[in-house]
Amino acid sequence: MAVSHADHQATRLARAEAHAALHGLALTPLRRQVYAAILASERAVGAYELLDALEPQRGRVPPTTVYRTLDFLLANGFVHRIESKNAFVACCEIGVPHRGQFLICDRCSTTVEIPGDELADQLSHTAPAQGFVVHRQVVELSGLCAPCAHAARLDTALP
Ligand SMILES: [Zn+2]
Ligand SMILES: [Zn+2]
Repeated sequence: MAVSHADHQATRLARAEAHAALHGLALTPLRRQVYAAILASERAVGAYELLDALEPQRGRVPPTTVYRTLDFLLANGFVHRIESKNAFVACCEIGVPHRGQFLICDRCSTTVEIPGDELADQLSHTAPAQGFVVHRQVVELSGLCAPCAHAARLDTALP
């Protein structure tokens, strides 16, 4: 049976809360709201979009507060930063140490995290072999998601 997007989000939010409780991380109401707003989006969400999303619940939140909240969520593995968009996505496997690998649609901006560390491990072994010191490792693949690729095929098929 298909799980609705809302059920899926509730499950992920519950998992994040359990992770926070287990590790003594304070998921304050603001942190929870910011995380839930990121979780609710299929796309990576920028800080200013988050400010707008919070406004109905909290009024105008100072940007520095949102940046601090994002730093907390990043540092504790709740979210990843998509460097090419300067935006954030919810992590698909909180509590499992890993580096981010993402498929990002050029057309609708849907962002999907690819779990699994094989590729990341391979890269992090290759770089030192080249004498290269890695400071940050994020793999972002841009292209078209399945529905957009399908739509693009239909577009080109039109006379
Ligand atoms: Zn992740
Ligand atoms: Zn797409």
